[in-house]
Amino acid sequence: MTVPLVLVQGDITRQRVDAVVNAANSSLLGGGGVDGAIHRAGGPEILADCRRLRAARYGKGLPTGRAVATVAGRLDARHVIHTVGPVWSATQDRSELLASCHRESLRVAAELGARTVAFPAISTGVYRWPLDDAARIAVRTVREAADPADFDEVRFVLFDRAAYDVFAAELATQGEG
Ligand code: ADP
Repeated sequence: MTVPLVLVQGDITRQRVDAVVNAANSSLLGGGGVDGAIHRAGGPEILADCRRLRAARYGKGLPTGRAVATVAGRLDARHVIHTVGPVWSATQDRSELLASCHRESLRVAAELGARTVAFPAISTGVYRWPLDDAARIAVRTVREAADPADFDEVRFVLFDRAAYDVFAAELATQGEG
């Protein structure tokens, strides 16, 4: 058995789930894209929690491929899980780091008892990862790593129709059951 994977076209800050994954940058101090949207919608408590984490553990930044949780502020969620995606490289294979973002986020979610988790398309914005390749890695990794004993649903939230279609094609290719 595998965890149900659900695709939604929309805004990740509007999801009602236990944990929302943020495509953060290593500073944990906010940025553009998903990161900016989460901090705007969730309010200052999330940033305050990020600053505490930075001071306590991640003064040099959260390493690429790792994940940490904070409160979710005003979001309709209990936790935000911040993970740092790799920047796309045409000369280096960084797939393992992108897979690690998904695995680590799920590990942190499971530790917190978060049974529903929403992921954005990590690394496909400012970090320029080609959507079809990112979708292949994201879907495969979540299918392999999400234990159905831990999760009721993993949701990919795609901002636009084009990204939704790419993820839908990937789910169809890899099989949904
Ligand atoms: P990264 O720096 O990891 O590339 P970005 O936040 O720049 O992260 O973009 C990741 C993906 O999230 C892109 O496909 C972008 O279109 C999408 N995105 C941006 N804002 C939102 C949002 N509010 N909800 C869902 N997806 C979003």
